[in-house]
Amino acid sequence: MAEDSKVHFAFKPIIRGMVISESADLFPIGKVYCVGRNYSDHAKEMESKLDQDQPFFFSKPAQAVTQSNSIPFPTQTENLHHEVELVVFLKSGCSDISPSEASQHIFGYAVGVDLTKRDLQTAAKKNGKPWDLSKGFDNSAPISKIQKNEGVLLSKGVISLKVNGQEKQSSNLLHMAWKVDELISWLSKFITLKAGDIIFTGTPSGVSTLNLNDKIEAEIENVGTLSFDLI
Ligand code: MG
Repeated sequence: MAEDSKVHFAFKPIIRGMVISESADLFPIGKVYCVGRNYSDHAKEMESKLDQDQPFFFSKPAQAVTQSNSIPFPTQTENLHHEVELVVFLKSGCSDISPSEASQHIFGYAVGVDLTKRDLQTAAKKNGKPWDLSKGFDNSAPISKIQKNEGVLLSKGVISLKVNGQEKQSSNLLHMAWKVDELISWLSKFITLKAGDIIFTGTPSGVSTLNLNDKIEAEIENVGTLSFDLI
């Protein structure tokens, strides 16, 4: 590879930079992982079980992440769902680490919504097909401003989401089956994590159908608030 100063890309690379609360710097988004079924009440409502033995992950493209407060209603779905989630941001890379080594890699947190085309996901599950198009579409990962909280392991706090002012999801991070440090450690055994990588940590119960013009407001205690409209 050429020295950095001599690199010429064929076209301008796309780097997604996300706003950090009370900072002029942007956070450059790397890989985006999401854990499935991490709260038992949500696993139950999906007619599924918690994965006690091992967590499972899927990913979204970095370009799915957005901080826009107006999100165009996605095409190709009759059943768009919200899933409010704590999102973890990494400031350094790691590979094959233990849970006790995980916190030193944490940059901070945000409130996120894992938007899901439930109809497409249900069909994919039934047919043993991948989830990419039901989970990784444009703007499918709205997040709040990033709350810098370096090296801090967040393990409790109320997590909630309202649609048009009506509460749909309300739980506590205490109920996560796999904690933040365990998720980072687990992932690092399979993939080299890098600075910029982020992890959506799963949703509690109460997921429901979203419609055009809905206003979504989500909040996590000590992390922040997220608000967007589907237009
Ligand atoms: Mg999710």
